[in-house]
Amino acid sequence: MRPIMVAGNWKMHGLSADAQHLTQSILDAGLEPTVPEVVLFPPFTLLHTVSQVAKGTALRWGGQNLFWENQGAYTGEISGSMLRDMGCRYVLVGHSERRQLFGETDAVVLRKAQAALHTGLIPVICVGETGDERQEGKTNAVLRRQIEALTPVLEHQGGGHQPHLVLAYEPVWAIGTGLTATPEQAEEAHAFIRSLVAEHTPALAKKLLILYGGSVKANNAAALFAAEDIDGGLVGGASLQAGEFIQICRAAH
Ligand code: 13P
Repeated sequence: MRPIMVAGNWKMHGLSADAQHLTQSILDAGLEPTVPEVVLFPPFTLLHTVSQVAKGTALRWGGQNLFWENQGAYTGEISGSMLRDMGCRYVLVGHSERRQLFGETDAVVLRKAQAALHTGLIPVICVGETGDERQEGKTNAVLRRQIEALTPVLEHQGGGHQPHLVLAYEPVWAIGTGLTATPEQAEEAHAFIRSLVAEHTPALAKKLLILYGGSVKANNAAALFAAEDIDGGLVGGASLQAGEFIQICRAAH
């Protein structure tokens, strides 16, 4: 059995008071004994608030993005060591919104994942096909391309007890649309992703967490999390409502 993780990607939402309230509500729900890992991905501006509320608890947090250089003249960018300084354990890499809206290629995603590892962060690397790609029967080809591009980080020797990276399958057509992949569709993709990882590193494939993301809600989370190769969720919209997010976390029990 792999542990279950539930992560909330707040995207570009929230001000300090929201972060304070959401984080405190999650802590007050007393989830710690039931779910191995709950991770929050607030915007950079809210990392400090989240860290102040959550420090010393089992709750974890991370950045939504990073740049591959450690420091320098890169106006507007944030480095892995800056995220570490905010107490982050994780960082999202290659979210489809970054790929689609900010032109992040597979090569950029690899570089960012390598930078994350280099600074001691665990990258949560997102992959997934668009609606058109699925309709054209290209889902597996797209996933293969995205996973193959990650070969150097898949083969990286983490050394630690916990896998050095997390993958998230986020079908683009299911993100923010209310159209969730069925547990069968999601499981098929997750099993395929795990088999691709196994081609490189069988030991990693066995213990690797693969999260599902795309319109995860309180009413569909349990069915998704019950699937063999689905190890938790990466939740967008529903992670902004404390009650709903807490129910999703409970569904991971
Ligand atoms: P939604 O849960 O809003 O569909 O977003 C999913 C997502 O992109 C998480 O990273």
